[in-house]
Amino acid sequence: MLTPFKNEFPFPNFAEERSRSRMEEALTSVTAQTGHTYSLVIGGRHIETVQRSQSRNPSRLDQVIGIACESPAEMVDAAVQAAQDAFPAWSHLSTEERARYFVSAAAKMRRRIYSFAAWMVLEAGKNWTEAYADAAEAIDFMEYYAREAIRLQRSHPTIAMTGEENDFFYLPLGVGAVIAPWNFPLAILVGMTTAAAVTGNTVIMKPAEQTPVIAAKFMELLEYVGLPPGVVNYLPGDGEVVGEALTAHPQVRFVAFTGSREVGVHIYARAAVVQPGQKFLRRCILEMGGKDAIVVDENTPLDLVAAEVVASAFGFQGQKCSACSRLIAHTDIYDELLQKVIELGRKIKIGDPAQYGVYMGGVIDAAAHKKILNYVALGRAEAKLVMGGVDTEDQETHGYFVHPTIFSEVDPQSRLAQEEIFGPVLSAIRAESFEHAMEIANGTDYGLTGALFSSSRAHLEYARREFHVGNLYLNRKCTGALVGVQPFGGFNMSGTDSKAGGPDYLLQFMQGKIVCERW
Ligand code: NAD
Repeated sequence: MLTPFKNEFPFPNFAEERSRSRMEEALTSVTAQTGHTYSLVIGGRHIETVQRSQSRNPSRLDQVIGIACESPAEMVDAAVQAAQDAFPAWSHLSTEERARYFVSAAAKMRRRIYSFAAWMVLEAGKNWTEAYADAAEAIDFMEYYAREAIRLQRSHPTIAMTGEENDFFYLPLGVGAVIAPWNFPLAILVGMTTAAAVTGNTVIMKPAEQTPVIAAKFMELLEYVGLPPGVVNYLPGDGEVVGEALTAHPQVRFVAFTGSREVGVHIYARAAVVQPGQKFLRRCILEMGGKDAIVVDENTPLDLVAAEVVASAFGFQGQKCSACSRLIAHTDIYDELLQKVIELGRKIKIGDPAQYGVYMGGVIDAAAHKKILNYVALGRAEAKLVMGGVDTEDQETHGYFVHPTIFSEVDPQSRLAQEEIFGPVLSAIRAESFEHAMEIANGTDYGLTGALFSSSRAHLEYARREFHVGNLYLNRKCTGALVGVQPFGGFNMSGTDSKAGGPDYLLQFMQGKIVCERW
């Protein structure tokens, strides 16, 4: 019997010598392993391709983290076939047996957590704590879903009918595509893949173009624990090639996607088309972007709020779907709060996050850098720049750095306040009253996370009912959901509200069957 689920929490305090030296050792060791080539893994076979891409450190552009073979579109068929071949044996294993592979992988990842974190410092530009938290979440997903799958495979009681036995249980769907983003390159990839596989499906795992190496490290781990060939296939490559082919493949029964609104909406439409030879309606689990707000009421202790706003807005360079990109403050405290946020924001250390104490690294790539700076230029025209707004010189050689940036007096309907920027850019919006603040908060197409800081019970209760987001936080920051504690997923254009890390999540990867036998 497995022990009850427990989060990998709290995270280490790197101010302590022991944790700091473990991270330094891991970074040295991982740095020595950079530059290797990673092949595709299809049905257990390692396949090298001609088309390759270099994965570079976004905070040190001269450092090549690894070279990823890219799958051409033709290889998608081979990967789907390998998953199809692996499906009968894998789906017939007991759930406990399948779960053990992932509990074993979690144990091994836990032993090497500093190493997994170090890869994310280098490949994704995460600071030490963010990188450690990402690896911890990956472990949590494996441990949690292993237990959830076991819980769900038990027969579910139905209303008893005399003279009959009725049995209700769940079956896997078949072959599925997991299409992951770069911003939680380990946790989200591991979460979606584990959920799909532990419930008996077989998977084609397509990582983001920006983070193929960390995904390859997860694939190596699955091979190390002896996962049968073909259960998980590693297929890095261009989203518009590999992703495009997977989402409309006549044998791919479901798509689990986390990424941008634009791509999610495209996948939703594409996956809906029934292809020749396709005998099912493809399921889509789509988790997309956000335009998350922290609302601050009058009569709130502002020092605490300012720290939580800075962590939510600028942690991992603002590149979290849950990041606070709108600070909506009551006019009575607006100026004082903004001043405190600016004071804290100015203390943020930017640079190569492999160095201890650096809080913000480079943003993920040249395209993101350009996009964020375009929004900064737009903000200069639309609102009042009160902090940041610059990129560092030498970004061509050193990294894609963007300083934490705050615009004030932002119009709630402006593009700055409506569109997901996905960078360290915070829009401060003045509200005339609490009701006005809530109206602004709900006034975008998204509905992922939100927070309210208030000491009014009536306002807190109002927000519980009316703040229309999938993850609402009262009197705390709007980032940092923990598996099992705050199941995660958003409303409206933030996605299908799948609630990753929650008790309903695995049901999306399964289909219920009733067997009725009359005596
Ligand atoms: P993205 O949409 O650009 O890419 C995500 C994945 O989709 C990548 O693997 C990419 O290769 C693939 N892809 C691209 N084009 C495709 C196509 N035509 N068909 C199929 N697949 C395709 O997103 P990103 O930049 O990697 O990630 C950032 C976005 O993800 C942000 O919008 C962020 O808010 C969102 N996100 C959401 C959550 C959540 O839980 N809601 C979590 C993390 C990130």
